[in-house]
Amino acid sequence: MKEVSFTDFKLNRQLLTAIAGMGYEQPTEIQRKSIPVISAGQHVIGIAQTGTGKTAAYLLPILMNVKFAAGKDPRALILAPTKELVVQIAEHAAQLAVHTDLRILAIYGGIGPKTQVETLQRGVDILVATPGRFMELYLKGEVPVKQIKILVLDEADRMMDMGFMPQVRKIFEVIPHKRQNLLFSATFPEKVECLAAEFLTFPVRIEVTPPATPASQVAQELYLLPNLKTKINFLEYLLSDPECTRVMLFTRTKEAADNVYKFIERKNLGPVRVIHSNKGQNSRINAVNEFKSGKLRVLVSTDVTSRGIDVTRVSHVINFDVPVVYEDYVHRIGRTGRAFQTGKAITMATEAEVYHVRKIEAIIRESIPKKKLPASVELAETPKEEKLEMAREIDRQKKKEDPLFKGAFHERKGKF
Ligand code: AMP
Repeated sequence: MKEVSFTDFKLNRQLLTAIAGMGYEQPTEIQRKSIPVISAGQHVIGIAQTGTGKTAAYLLPILMNVKFAAGKDPRALILAPTKELVVQIAEHAAQLAVHTDLRILAIYGGIGPKTQVETLQRGVDILVATPGRFMELYLKGEVPVKQIKILVLDEADRMMDMGFMPQVRKIFEVIPHKRQNLLFSATFPEKVECLAAEFLTFPVRIEVTPPATPASQVAQELYLLPNLKTKINFLEYLLSDPECTRVMLFTRTKEAADNVYKFIERKNLGPVRVIHSNKGQNSRINAVNEFKSGKLRVLVSTDVTSRGIDVTRVSHVINFDVPVVYEDYVHRIGRTGRAFQTGKAITMATEAEVYHVRKIEAIIRESIPKKKLPASVELAETPKEEKLEMAREIDRQKKKEDPLFKGAFHERKGKF
């Protein structure tokens, strides 16, 4: 089967450049399935969990459709249950729209409406909102709704659980009836099905198959580590094991991939190469071929570059960071076990990454066995800046789960 790429979706150049800039190399499953259908103007029910890439799956066709700034009235409305999610979606949209002049605004409660209203008055193309704040401002006559042509209900199941349905129903009544409706939900219980039947006529139902349970012969191990430096120390320990013959190591960012690569080289821990989206296509192909032929001991890759590479006969998969596209985890550990009966998948997580571990465990429907760090691995002190960043990240996660959570850190002042 031909690999699908973002260029197959007829997205405009601005969006493709932004996608490349974000390091996305290939569409995820939900993106492959939804982007063409949404672009064709159909109503969609998408059943996909966080971590599947579902946000970009609906944002990209919307950005393509709305295209450039025009008039003052929003043309797309995205509703999400919590402030955190609303901010996150708006940030994601702003990143994807970075090469366009589109105006994206997040509106949510908990702060005074003044700035939000002023921004609305200046003109907005895509509005992301919590249902409560949307209705509040609408009733004050501050939200022009006549031009709304696309509506997204994101995390519809949580929206229902949190009791937002009465407000959402009112919103359906006040916005134009002739519009494209997109409903995304992590789960599809009967109540969501009823809701979908109520406001979507002949929707296309797109479901991302929950990834299969990992192959049982793969030994999964989870290590909780305090910081980056300790991860490096542990990596050195792992690579001191001669059984570790062919290792695929994944990091979340290009910088981390480069740093890990340099570390392995400096310490002479075996032949190693690194691949990520800043490396040319040839260099990447060569690295993969060398790895396949057994010339390399370690191939370091970012999460995104890893997708689609079929590297069998791997002795160890090391997740230096916990993947945020959760399906990647399952693909990776599946890869290990296939060749070696004793394949090992080792995941390193800091306190700030445990959140993603729990989500992965929910998807694979098992818990990843937690192991104690060997005594000979030196525990490094956490630098102040790293400590702060982790605390902020944990705050963000808690707020995402519980909109009433009052974090210890204030939101940074941004565009939204
Ligand atoms: P979501 O499921 O929408 O919450 O997305 C989860 C994470 O995956 C986010 O950090 C996205 O930036 C990232 N992501 C979305 N699509 C892709 C893609 N095609 N390639 C790599 N990462 C992606």
